[in-house]
Amino acid sequence: MDRKAVAEHLRALGIECLTEGLEPYGRDETMDLFAAPELVVRPRSTPEVQEVLRLAERDGIPVTPRGGGTGKAGGCIPVRGGIVLSLERMNRIREIDASNRFAVVEPGVVLWTLHEECRKHGLLYPVDMSSGGSCELGGNLACDGGGERAVKYGTTRAQVAGVEAVLMGGEVIRTGGKLRKNAAGYALHHLIVGSEGTLAVITEATLRLVPLPPFRKTLLAAFASLDRAAHAALEVEAKGFPLSAIELVERAAADLAQRMLGVVLPHPGAGAYLLAEVEGFQGGRTEEEIEAVGSALLESGAEEVDVAPREKVWAVRHAIAEAIKKLPGYSAVDTVVPRTRMPELIRRAHAAAKANGIEVVCFGHAGDGNIHVDFIRREASDPRWDPGIGPAVRAVLEATVALGGSVTAEHGVGLLRRDDLPLQLDPATLAAMAALKRAWDPKGLLNPGKIWPQG
Ligand SMILES: Cc1cc2nc3c(=O)[nH]c(=O)nc-3n(C[C@H](O)[C@H](O)[C@H](O)COP(=O)(O)OP(=O)(O)OC[C@H]3O[C@@H](n4cnc5c(N)ncnc54)[C@H](O)[C@@H]3O)c2cc1C
Repeated sequence: MDRKAVAEHLRALGIECLTEGLEPYGRDETMDLFAAPELVVRPRSTPEVQEVLRLAERDGIPVTPRGGGTGKAGGCIPVRGGIVLSLERMNRIREIDASNRFAVVEPGVVLWTLHEECRKHGLLYPVDMSSGGSCELGGNLACDGGGERAVKYGTTRAQVAGVEAVLMGGEVIRTGGKLRKNAAGYALHHLIVGSEGTLAVITEATLRLVPLPPFRKTLLAAFASLDRAAHAALEVEAKGFPLSAIELVERAAADLAQRMLGVVLPHPGAGAYLLAEVEGFQGGRTEEEIEAVGSALLESGAEEVDVAPREKVWAVRHAIAEAIKKLPGYSAVDTVVPRTRMPELIRRAHAAAKANGIEVVCFGHAGDGNIHVDFIRREASDPRWDPGIGPAVRAVLEATVALGGSVTAEHGVGLLRRDDLPLQLDPATLAAMAALKRAWDPKGLLNPGKIWPQG
């Protein structure tokens, strides 16, 4: 790419281009992944995105879409050079349609900014995650973000009623809308969600909202062992309580977060915690439900159950990933298995760590069977890390697939898992996906190098 000529062309059209200070646009939140960007383009509107993709197709320039850069699979890293297309300045909430309960947003809106705006209308956008202060809705859609409330409301895909997107070459497509039902042809918005910026650039999304439940109660349950906590999560969920979250945290993961924040949770001798939450519209009923959940947790082997100070407990849960990132090394595997196989997956993760002489911590969205298996390196000088980490990760991925699971639950394939995809998907399925990619982006210019090694 002739960087100077491209920047001049786009600037002449009034589109912002950065040629300095590009280093932060070359990484995300994935350990050790970086590629130096050649040019960062920051459009403000759909027509500006069209101009960029028109030029890119004409001149054969790779384009890597980027949201908040919080991804954990290297999806927004510009491995083939070209343009980093940062959607951060397309950050307007175009509409909160409170009567029909939809939000119409640009892709650069930060997740928690939408939460704030919805709250003013007594509404909730029900996707939430620890990165909510930085991740953007375009990135959430592109990865089909999950998070802690998916157990009740589903992942991002379940909230998306419509999308406007720009195809490589500059064509705009609009699919879906402020509709609760819609059977008009292929639901392309559902295809674009989860496509990790390899099919189209999302420039607008229509998102379903729900009434904001005014009452929310959180329990912290302490268990002697991780295995007991994992089984208890299943047992409580199976009883049909309307849980809006049920999160599993292994002791060592909680310790890392507590140390970073300088806070202490009750029951420091526990082997693991479950964090369970219920929300509702009637205070008395919510109280009754949370009490019933507490009793069920005790029946399932909890040593102690407390009605927890919500902010403190969630602060610890939300800080785990950041605390792990501060260690000299880590490698995160975003597993999901059918829920009932979760305890077995956790057992195999610990066995893989032990067999390779390294440490692992497990935490995550127990209600979905979505456990983050993070191998951690506490000392940079630990000689067991380098030979052990590859086989340990591989063993967890193989165990996940053998248990009927997926090599990525909510972080996407990106760069990190692209070579692992054939573990899970057969050649015919991979070929069908590749054919779609070729149809939408024949020259392979949109987020190249992601999902497939050749893609
Ligand atoms: C502390 C922490 C906690 C996290 N917790 C969770 C969690 O609970 N659940 C969860 O799902 N994830 C979680 N994540 C991962 C991450 O926050 C999500 O994957 C998030 O959805 C990424 O959004 P982003 O805006 O940062 O995207 P980026 O990292 O910028 O990009 C991610 C992908 O989206 C593509 N993309 C971005 N914008 C667009 C667009 N407009 N059009 C097309 N493609 C686009 C990029 O090309 C890339 O492939 C966590 C991350 C951190 C650091």
